[in-house]
Parts: sequence; structure tokens; C-alpha cells
Amino acid sequence: MHWSEAIANEIIAKKPDKEEYVCAAGISPSGSVHIGNFRDVATSYFVCRALQKAGKKAKLLFSWDEFDRFRKVPKNVPEEWSRHIGKPYVDVPDPFGCCESYAKHFEQEFERSLSRFGVMVDFRYQAAEYRSGRYNQSIIHSLRHRREIFDILDSFRTQDAAEGEREAYSPAIVYCPACDKDTTTFTSFSEDYTTGHFTCKCGYEGDYDFVNGGSAKLAWKIDWPMRWQAEDVDFEPGGKDHASPTGSYQTSRIISDKIFGYEAPYFTGYEFIGIKGMTGKMSGSSGLNLTPDTLLKIYQPEVILWLYSKTEPLKAFDFCFDEEILRQYFEFDKALNDYRAGKGDERLNAIMYNVDVPGHEVKTVPMSQLVQLGSTVDFNLDALETVFEKIGTPYKREDFAERLALAKFWLEQCSPENAYKLRSIRDFSVYNALSDEEKQEIKLLFEHLSAVDDSLDDLNTFLYSVSRTVFPGGNDKEIKVKQGRFFKNVYQLLLNKEKGPRLYLFLHAIDKARYLPLLDFSTPATAMELAAAQPEAPETEAAPEAAAAPLKPEIAIDDFAKLDFRVCKVLECVDVPKARNLLKLTLDDGLGGRQIVSSIKGEYQPEELVGRKIIVVANLKPAKFAGEKSEGMLLAATSEQSGCKVIFVDDAVPCGTAIG
Ligand SMILES: [Zn+2]
Ligand SMILES: [Zn+2]
Repeated sequence: MHWSEAIANEIIAKKPDKEEYVCAAGISPSGSVHIGNFRDVATSYFVCRALQKAGKKAKLLFSWDEFDRFRKVPKNVPEEWSRHIGKPYVDVPDPFGCCESYAKHFEQEFERSLSRFGVMVDFRYQAAEYRSGRYNQSIIHSLRHRREIFDILDSFRTQDAAEGEREAYSPAIVYCPACDKDTTTFTSFSEDYTTGHFTCKCGYEGDYDFVNGGSAKLAWKIDWPMRWQAEDVDFEPGGKDHASPTGSYQTSRIISDKIFGYEAPYFTGYEFIGIKGMTGKMSGSSGLNLTPDTLLKIYQPEVILWLYSKTEPLKAFDFCFDEEILRQYFEFDKALNDYRAGKGDERLNAIMYNVDVPGHEVKTVPMSQLVQLGSTVDFNLDALETVFEKIGTPYKREDFAERLALAKFWLEQCSPENAYKLRSIRDFSVYNALSDEEKQEIKLLFEHLSAVDDSLDDLNTFLYSVSRTVFPGGNDKEIKVKQGRFFKNVYQLLLNKEKGPRLYLFLHAIDKARYLPLLDFSTPATAMELAAAQPEAPETEAAPEAAAAPLKPEIAIDDFAKLDFRVCKVLECVDVPKARNLLKLTLDDGLGGRQIVSSIKGEYQPEELVGRKIIVVANLKPAKFAGEKSEGMLLAATSEQSGCKVIFVDDAVPCGTAIG
């Protein structure tokens, strides 16, 4: 049974006769919605579909938590936006100037990508809901039970409550009418909790009317269960940090039960999403801010849904920016083809049920071929259609146009080393280094291709016969080696690479006029070819592989065990102004945070480090550098040739993880 069906069954068992089931998801528009948060929607969406498959009426409710406070300026927003911290997202101006608010900008960005997945959603905009007064009675109800709520929250805390904390506690805040921030404190309430008196850090002081007002908001752990009741929610997933025994779901579940008298919805935590192989042009700010939109530049929406659908929520998986993505496409195509042909088992069918996007059809033209052949024809649709025709898989341009655009983006942005570009002039440095027999092979190839238009099969046979002709006495094993070299030589002469697309396909597919001149060495090198064939400046010889430093004296395992290495995430990174080479890093070490100073200023720009995970010796005695405290040391590899390279850790590893 698919995991979403198992959850749906539990939900139905709880309330067998409910008229319509509600599956919820929600995100704060705190910035571009990260692909990890998309799991919230995907998980709820699949459960909703499983309920529908079971013959039930069900809807997917999506809450924009835009009445939450703006708490942190994300990387792609100007630092001066920090002056808006404390206001609700819906009242912060759009830093990009194109939408009515900060919240709207990121909401619309995400809603646009959501529509590409064909996910139908019933949206709730929490600022509008709060301001309409819809929740006022629930807020008053919470205030009347504020001491009980305090006790529930307190039971999850490790430190004791301070004196007077319980008496002063309010489950609601009010956004200040003067400064619009949540820097307010209620100092007293009327006996029936319909009004309250509050002060603000900005100096404002006044009364708030809980019955008619629209600017109070419940704190998150009360807000969540209040909305479960308001919307009659049956299912809502949450990041695995919410799922822990002390996480917010547990707290909210008890508040839901004890304060609102509503049995909390079925909940599942989900694992975070990994990002693999993001290098080169993609590893900049977009890498740290990876949105569904960015992923849709290389993944078809169905492939993304498939990855979420086939992976249980509590298991991790990776989106891959390296060649691994081609394997994912391959597996997806196989699954889809089996499913379409009715060859799928129950599990496969259940996975693929979640994958279709209405109004969008996937054609399973192999992505690896589009990558290999696409670059050789400069991604020209007509040329590629001709190529497919020639090699016996006559895909039409409308079959592969969409995937070709994704393949092009992937090759150019993520994997330029995999692009195949025909050389423009002959490569005499490669040719001159060949043995006489190898030159003979190239000559045979050139003459054959010039004279004969082979079928695909005949061309393949010919290619394998070349080495046999030139090395007539060789046994099978020797000939195999010669053939390997011959293919490699051709790739080098045509593509500057040791490997390439299947040679017979390639030579058959590409217009001969484009590559034959590159194999014809019967005329002397031109001036340009001579210049290109000059041996390169002996850069590598001037910097021979530096001898590795000699080993330090041997240590016992106990010595090593004294070192406490931890995975830390760089939250902030700034110059230490008084020092020439120091950067100050603020880290999430999973232990409450720490600061270190590192002498890597010349090696890294701060923005290259923010958001990345590093390894820190966490139990090193703190020290001061240029007046800044440093609580630990980051690990980096330094050599003459490479300079200093910080050692980064896969983003899937949680902060605070010990290494050993
Ligand atoms: Zn905008
Ligand atoms: Zn104020």
C-alpha cells in the first residue's frame, strides 16, 4: 500500500462518515519558498488524492502564514529591510517593487510554480482571516485559558519559569497601531478578556478591543491548533523538527485537545530534501534559495512529483544537479512506460497515480540522448529531428522540445563539461602524437566516410573493422584495445574529449560536412592550426605536485577521541574590520549557536559561505582575534596550488552532528 493510502485509511477510520476531509499545508512567505517546504504541499496533496481515490470528498487547504512577523532578512533582500523586522509579512513592502507587499511577492512566486504541478489548492491568506475578525472569539477563548496554556507550554520547557511569568503570559500579541510591529506587551486585561491594555517599545500605549479589533494574533503554537479547529482539519504534515517529542506538533496537539476541545489532525513529519552536485554557475545564491521554479528549469514537474511520491515522507532524497539527474530521468521513464503499458505492480501504480499533471503530457524521449545529441547540433530542433530520424528513433520536435530546453539548461548551467562541441579546426597536436598505424586508422575512416553513405548498422560494422584492417595479426583481445584507442582518438580529434556519444550514432547523425574536414590531414596545417597546436605554456610543470607534508607523530585513538568535530551551518559571515585576513562567522552548531573567527578573508567572499555547512573543532579552548571571540576552528585544506579550501558538508547532515 502506498504511504499516502495508509494515512488516508487512518483518517477515514477516525471519522468514517465525514462529508468532506480537509488536508492542510502551510508556509510563511518569509522569502522564496524553498523546495524543501514544497514537501509540505506534496505530502498533503498525495493524502488528499488517496482520500479521493477511496471514494471520499477531500480538499487541499493551503495557508499563507503572512500575518506572522517578519523575523529575518533573507539573502536576496536588501539589508535595509531589517527596519521592517517585527511587522507582519503582509505589511512589509515588496523589496523587488513589483507587488503590493513582501508577502504577495513570494506568495505569487510560489503559486505560479504550484500551478505547473497541477495541484488544486484552496488558499487561505491568514492576514485577511485575522483582520476580518474571524478568529476574535478564539483569541478571547485563548486569553481566558491563558494560564492553562502557559502550563502546557511550560511543561515542554527545560528551564523553570521566572517569577511572575505565568501571571504576565499572553497567548496573543497585537501589532502596534503606531509602528505596526509586534514589539508590544499586554500589561492588563479586562475581567472578561474583551479588552486589554498594552505598551509598545516605540512608546505607544493604548487599549485593544478583542471583540472588534483585527490586529491581534495568536502565538504559533496556539495559532496552529486554533486553525485546525476553525477549518476542521483532518491531516497536516510538518517538517521533522515539528515532529520530535518536544516539537511544536506535540505542544499544539495538547493545546488543541485541552483548550479547543478538538482532536488534533493526523500528523506526519517529513524529512528534509537534499541537494546534490550543485556546482559552477548554480551554486551561488540560487543554490541556497532553491525554489521549485529553479528545479523546474531542469526537472519536468512530473519527475519532481514522482520523487516525492515514491519516497516515504520520513525518508530523504536528493535533487541532483550532477549527472545523477540523468539516472533519475531514466528510472522515471521506465516507471512511466511500465505504468502506461499496464505492466506496473500495485506499488508502481500507486506511485504513478500521483504523478500526472492535468493538461500536460510527458513524452519519454531519453534525456541522456537529448543531452548527448542536443549539444552536437546546438540544440536546434529541426537538426535534432533529422538526427533522430537517421538513427532510427524518429521522435518529432513536439515530442522532445520541452525536454530539450531542460537538457540545454542543465548542460550549460550545471554540467558544461558534458557538452559536446565539434572543433572548428583540425587538432594537429593530437594528430602528430599518433603512431603511424593510428594515423592510418584516421585516414581509413576519412576515406570511407567521404566515399560511402552507410546505413547505421553498416557504419557500426565498418568502425569496428578499422583496427582489424590496420593491425591484421592481432588477436581479439589486442584488437579490442586498439579499437578503444581508435574511438578515443576520433573523439579527441572531433570533440576534444576522450569519450563521447556512441560513435556510430554520432557520425551517422551529424551532417558530414561539419566534421569530415576535422579528419582530413592530407593538407598541411594552416597558420591558425599551427598556433593552436603549440604546446601550452608549461604551467603544470612549473608547479609540480607539491610534496605532501610529512606525517606528524603517531597518536593513539584516545587522543583523536578528545577532539569534538561538529557540523555547523554558517548563518552569517562578516569581515573583521580591524584585521586584514579575518572573517567572523556566526554558526548554527545545533547547541544554541557560536561564533568563530577564521583567517580566510582573501579566500572566500562572505556570501560564498553563508548557508553552507562546515566542520568545526567545537571543543577548542576559545580565543580572541582582533578583539573578536572565536569558539572553535573550521576545517580547511590548504596547499600551495589550491590556496585554502574550506571543507563543506552535505546539506542533509543536521547541525550539531558529531564527526568521528
Ligand atoms: Zn514583487
Ligand atoms: Zn509601536
